[in-house]
Amino acid sequence: MDDLTLTDSNVASQGNGCIRLIPLGELPARFCEMLAQEVELVEEFRPSKVLDAVLLLPGANAEQAIAEMARTGNLLAALLDLTGGNHPRADHAGQATLDSLARGLEMAVRIRTAIGRLAPIPANDDAGGLTAIALALTRDRSIEPRLNSTVADFVSYPLLAGLKDQRSLLEGLAGAKLLKRRFFERLHVCGECQSARAVPREVCPQCGSSDLSEDTLVHHYKCGYQAPKSTFVTNDRLACPKCDRQLRHYGVDYDTPGSVRVCQTCSAISAEPEISFLCIDCSAMTRGIDVRTRDWFCYDLTPLAETAAAEGRLPGTGVEGLLNGLPGWRTPRDLALMIDLAHRIGVRYGRPYAVLEIDLSATESGVAALGEVGIAKLQRVMVDVISETVRDSDFLATFDRKILLFLPETSHENCHFLLNRLRARVTKTLGDRAQISARIVPEAEIPILVQQISK
Ligand SMILES: [Zn+2]
Ligand SMILES: [Zn+2]
Ligand SMILES: [Zn+2]
Repeated sequence: MDDLTLTDSNVASQGNGCIRLIPLGELPARFCEMLAQEVELVEEFRPSKVLDAVLLLPGANAEQAIAEMARTGNLLAALLDLTGGNHPRADHAGQATLDSLARGLEMAVRIRTAIGRLAPIPANDDAGGLTAIALALTRDRSIEPRLNSTVADFVSYPLLAGLKDQRSLLEGLAGAKLLKRRFFERLHVCGECQSARAVPREVCPQCGSSDLSEDTLVHHYKCGYQAPKSTFVTNDRLACPKCDRQLRHYGVDYDTPGSVRVCQTCSAISAEPEISFLCIDCSAMTRGIDVRTRDWFCYDLTPLAETAAAEGRLPGTGVEGLLNGLPGWRTPRDLALMIDLAHRIGVRYGRPYAVLEIDLSATESGVAALGEVGIAKLQRVMVDVISETVRDSDFLATFDRKILLFLPETSHENCHFLLNRLRARVTKTLGDRAQISARIVPEAEIPILVQQISK
């Protein structure tokens, strides 16, 4: 195991050069000698201790370990899974053998060296985004999604295990051009609770029951009557329920132009059943024509991300970067609390309020023909109009590539003025081709919006 000698200058510059490792689970006696030579064993997770590696041994709980890594700011540490399982976040996985341990320690050294080339991650709002970038950069990997039935979103990013609000974090970075999106999957979401664990079934368009049976449609030539076959059958023969004649020969007396569904609950007959999604999390049903979708992406780092990781700060990020200097700027979660309160007061005491939603992706794709410069101009105009218009008592946040403006004590009518002004200014600056995609969120949708952004 001579090749484990730590010679890299970056490593040598960090303390005594030993890997700081915390073993979890049952430590086999045969590991002790190698660990004693190669690593500095750490007894427990502590916020100030910067770990290089977490070693999972048989009996260790990986999820608990990741939660501890997150709590103590050690999410970048190498995760070595020697439980015989293969945790999706693991940087090295294998059996609890000396050989596997040696390869795991090599990996930990490589990762620590890579981390040593990056700026330390600051304890501010940039920490989540920088951690995501650093994880991808030090592992030389894309941020890959994975279908995961244990979460309501149905998708998770194993590399980012332990990081909160992964989707909005990644979308924020992609919006700022630090990550490049690659399409992964489009999932339908429950209209009630936004869970993606919703299964489609065919239902009766009349009553919504999924208890449908298939029947052959019979067409009686003579009288033109058409109905499910079951209504024609009497004593093993086919008789037309309309004109009472016997149907003897297929192609002469009758034909079967297709099939229909017969609802066993309300007896309705339908040529085409509806699709309805049944939510596994809240049991709500969402009609196929009403169901919304959510797109998921794989993310690749761009050169801007490498710069950010080297500098230890995220650049001013497009519209978000320009808006977050305004006094009314809030996190999506805080904005959700305020909107929720205004909604409750509105319902009870009739106080007006308005929420204006500007869809940045739709707006930007609408002006794609104007190019990067055009989009930058558009962002500038939007930010100018917004900062001129928002009062001290107004608040805003961005969420999922949308700007949300919360205007307390403002009627929808007055909010329309603001929207029109925004539209007029955009057209004046960028011409008729530039259209912003914005709307006043209807009151009925407010509870769903609050739920989405407070996630
Ligand atoms: Zn649901
Ligand atoms: Zn029915
Ligand atoms: Zn007939």
